Amino acid sequence: MLRTHTCGELRIKDVQQRVTLTGWVQRQRDKGSLLWIDLRDRYGITQLFLEEGKSAPKLLETARAVGREYVVRVTGIVVERMSKNDKMPTGDIEIKVEEFDILNPSKVPPFTIEENTDGGDDLRMKYRYLDLRRAPVRDSLLLRHQMSQQTRAYMDSLGFIEVETPVLIKSTPEGARDFVVPSRIHHGEFYALPQSPQTFKQLLMVSGFDRYYQIVRCFRDEDLRADRQPEFTQIDCEMAFVTREDILHTFEGLIRHLFKKVKGYDLPALPHMSYADAMKNYGSDKPDTRFGMTFTELNSQTQGKGFQVFDSAELVVGISVPGAAGYTRKQLDELTEFVKRPQVGAKGLVWVRYEESGTLKSSVDKFYDEAALKTWAAACSAKPGDLLLVLAGPTDATRKALSELRLLMGSQLGLRDKNTFSALWVIDFPLFEWDEDAKRFNAMHHPFTSPKHEDLHLLDKDPAKVRANAYDMVINGSEVGGGSIRIHDRPTQQLMFSKLGFTEEEARKQFGFLMEAFEFGAPPHGGIAFGFDRLCAIFGGAESIRDFIAFPKNNAGKDMMIDTPSTISQDQLNELALSIKPAK
Ligand code: ASP
Repeated sequence: MLRTHTCGELRIKDVQQRVTLTGWVQRQRDKGSLLWIDLRDRYGITQLFLEEGKSAPKLLETARAVGREYVVRVTGIVVERMSKNDKMPTGDIEIKVEEFDILNPSKVPPFTIEENTDGGDDLRMKYRYLDLRRAPVRDSLLLRHQMSQQTRAYMDSLGFIEVETPVLIKSTPEGARDFVVPSRIHHGEFYALPQSPQTFKQLLMVSGFDRYYQIVRCFRDEDLRADRQPEFTQIDCEMAFVTREDILHTFEGLIRHLFKKVKGYDLPALPHMSYADAMKNYGSDKPDTRFGMTFTELNSQTQGKGFQVFDSAELVVGISVPGAAGYTRKQLDELTEFVKRPQVGAKGLVWVRYEESGTLKSSVDKFYDEAALKTWAAACSAKPGDLLLVLAGPTDATRKALSELRLLMGSQLGLRDKNTFSALWVIDFPLFEWDEDAKRFNAMHHPFTSPKHEDLHLLDKDPAKVRANAYDMVINGSEVGGGSIRIHDRPTQQLMFSKLGFTEEEARKQFGFLMEAFEFGAPPHGGIAFGFDRLCAIFGGAESIRDFIAFPKNNAGKDMMIDTPSTISQDQLNELALSIKPAK
């Protein structure tokens, strides 16, 4: 190589050595008599220095001529630094430069390439290759590399084999729209990009592969939401001859292995929580269990006292916020504004301050005396110093709104530390979810998910009550993975499609291959898929998945660097027999 060492490895023990380093000029400090340069590569930063009067004039001239991001090669002697920098691994030494070559100059970069940058999002996306030189972004990708290596090591140790499945397929319904690819050879026909390898991994079980996994790109053409990427990566897995417990056990093992190997952290065993309990106690199927503040239903304590809002509500439900009785009137008004935002959707907020002195004051003193408020506090196990926040209305919407408020309070009280990890399984999801617009049921997970055996008799009578043999893994309030035990016989799969409103003909046309496979000795099977980008972001303690993807799209689904999506030529359109209506 053109170097003897990297910029991250020289230490005090290397003093006196003659070394050659290569890298990028991060910054230059010229004190007249002394010139320092920070040289950076993937491995770290090493300080170079040259001295007026001691270094050759030609050398000083070259070194002074370089700017930020020039690519250089230097040879020199490792010396002990006069003033050491204990924040840098190489901070005890510097290089006294004896040879200095410019390998390639650089234009002035559009933003500073340091730990913290002055570049805005769009600019950094446009010059992603420069942003990737910054230590935090680089470290995110190194973490991702470790995560995938450790995933492969764990899966391999358990006999899972990695199988690649096709990218040009026919649509799989996972709830989002497909990206489609027109066929040139078969005019008017299209491939779809996989939303997941779901049907293929099930077919691999029919083939007898028994344990499959794949770290695989998936594509979903969803409406844009913050921090969604149209293409994303899953750790996709499937096993045959298993019960739900086998799957939960195996993949709890994967997550604990990753925490141990990548973060040196012993993740405790994951508790199981039913979907029904998650909704009742947290108002969410992905509860953030880093903190308490679980819900208390207060219908019996609050109704029948003449307060119309509560009396007419299907649900009255509250949380007790520890130590927040001191919230000012202004802070409480802000919380009321928060819950009334359209995204949260509550009509108003009732609060009760349980003061340190033991007295209770509320926003509804007109209707409830202190004795009445005491019963609320007791139901919520509140203590003096706590603040009760109560919402009322239709059950589902009210739970959802209180869930948002709970998360806000968790954040305001500093209870959502990104370096604390709380993981659990949410199990027993409903099989169906009612689609109000289409006036029919959709599969809550996907149509291949098996109903729970004991709920089969409800399939005709009360489909909304049927529970699925499905599970999600939740970490810190994010769904990081989800899966199910599958249907593995034709009649049940056909029944499922008919419940989802498919005609027999539609089901056969789209999924005939799968149902036919089920008639050739399909073993019982089940699996799971983890959102790999999100998992990496959680491990990295980051809010956004973007920096864990080398070349991500922005929030509008665009790649700013290569400028896509973009138009194609008329010739290409002709070849594909596509015509585009001009944009209005
Ligand atoms: N294919 C499912 C998904 O992408 C995961 C699974 O059921 O294994 O969510």
